[in-house]
Amino acid sequence: SSFDQLGLSSVMLRSLKQAGFESPSPIQAELIPPALDGMDVIGQARTGTGKTAAFSIPILEQLDSLDDCRDPQAIIVVPTRELADQVAREAERLSYGVPTEIAVLSGGKNMRGQLRQLENGAQIVVGTPGRLHDHLQRRSLRTKDVWCVVLDEADRMLDIGFRPQIERILRRCPRDRQTLLLSATLPTQVQRLAESYMHEPLVIDC
Ligand code: AMP
Repeated sequence: SSFDQLGLSSVMLRSLKQAGFESPSPIQAELIPPALDGMDVIGQARTGTGKTAAFSIPILEQLDSLDDCRDPQAIIVVPTRELADQVAREAERLSYGVPTEIAVLSGGKNMRGQLRQLENGAQIVVGTPGRLHDHLQRRSLRTKDVWCVVLDEADRMLDIGFRPQIERILRRCPRDRQTLLLSATLPTQVQRLAESYMHEPLVIDC
């Protein structure tokens, strides 16, 4: 299979070439088209399968420019600080040539820097549940323009005990948003979260 067949823009195809991505991984081939159509998707995928690009590409393809929208349009929730940095780096790499503001909101990092970044405008926010929740409480993270929420490594986040924070984040985002959930395994607690907060999700197992 080829990236040409997934309905991507020429700008994105060029950016993928720049990143050295020659053909889509299975999760990318299966997740990108329905995600571009606005569907909710549950992707069962481990680290190393290319899951980060699978959810980042459809988001990058549909972002409004910072001139049109100052508040975050997509929130990517991940279990750890390291993963937040990694996801932000990958999304930045794939936005090659297109100005894209990505704010990393993870714990243990300077709050003032994060507040300034949000104030300056961010299209994508990547963060850990606790810190994202802090920003919601402070009203520094505005959610009215969020059209996509990604829960990455959902099983791991629930194992850590982040369920209350994740639920509060989801409840604060617009109801008609898209939700993408990635998880290595789909235990009952992940399925319950999906049942409560996702709309007729497509399930992909790669
Ligand atoms: P992930 O599973 O998202 O952590 O990705 C694992 C690694 O594979 C990362 O370094 C990605 O940059 C890389 N990668 C993801 N998709 C592709 C692709 N289609 N072709 C080549 N490398 C890729």
